[in-house]
Amino acid sequence: MSITVERINKYFGSFQALKDISLDIPDGKLIGLLGPSGSGKTTLLRVIAGLENAESGRVLFHGEDVTPLHVRERRVGFVFQHYALFRHMTVAQNIAFGLEVMPRKDRPSAPEIRRRVADLLEMVQLAHLAERFPAQLSGGQKQRIALARALAMKPQILLLDEPFGALDAKVRKDLRRWLRALHDELHFTSVFVTHDQEEALELSDQVVVMSAGKIEQVDEPRALYAQPESRFVFDFLGHVN
Ligand code: ADP
Repeated sequence: MSITVERINKYFGSFQALKDISLDIPDGKLIGLLGPSGSGKTTLLRVIAGLENAESGRVLFHGEDVTPLHVRERRVGFVFQHYALFRHMTVAQNIAFGLEVMPRKDRPSAPEIRRRVADLLEMVQLAHLAERFPAQLSGGQKQRIALARALAMKPQILLLDEPFGALDAKVRKDLRRWLRALHDELHFTSVFVTHDQEEALELSDQVVVMSAGKIEQVDEPRALYAQPESRFVFDFLGHVN
């Protein structure tokens, strides 16, 4: 499902966090939002998700204006860095939770929920941990469960805010590879936020470089590497974080 962002302006009080942002994200692409802290990445992601209302501008999914829709009506999956799993629920219960609280008319039957949870656990290769509690999992495992939970609703759009930010370098690298494979298998459209340029360049089909509430550049990773002026942007980003 394509995402179109049209002339979004977002203020917090008198501070303008997003300045006339327009962006076209084609169906099925994996897009990295890259920029220093405070550049507006998370705010843009939250506006796309419907967690934040902008003062002006529109968000369209597959050409349909979703701006007036509430977050739950937009049916996007999201994973945030500190989007904690429920501690008192097992892994399987955590993944099922989003399905169980769906409105009755949309909710899958109990056997269908069980089947879907089993499939998702298989997909994230953690079926053996179904009855564990989050405290018994490593950081990387928890993040894979959070992804499985987001995918339970079969979203066509998946939004990820610094999904691997808190993890160590080796785990991040493995998860990146794994997310890329999952994306290529399921073909959802995905936007992820990062301030790590290596992560953005390795994982993205296209990188959107943000700075001070504006989009500086949109390009394929290879093209960004090749341009001397964008290396300057990257050096700048590297020093900020
Ligand atoms: P990034 O994700 O690039 O680090 P954010 O989108 O989180 O940036 O924030 C952009 C700017 O908006 C920052 O200056 C931040 O302090 C400000 N901001 C974000 N959320 C709020 C909020 N709820 N209230 C006030 N200011 C906010």
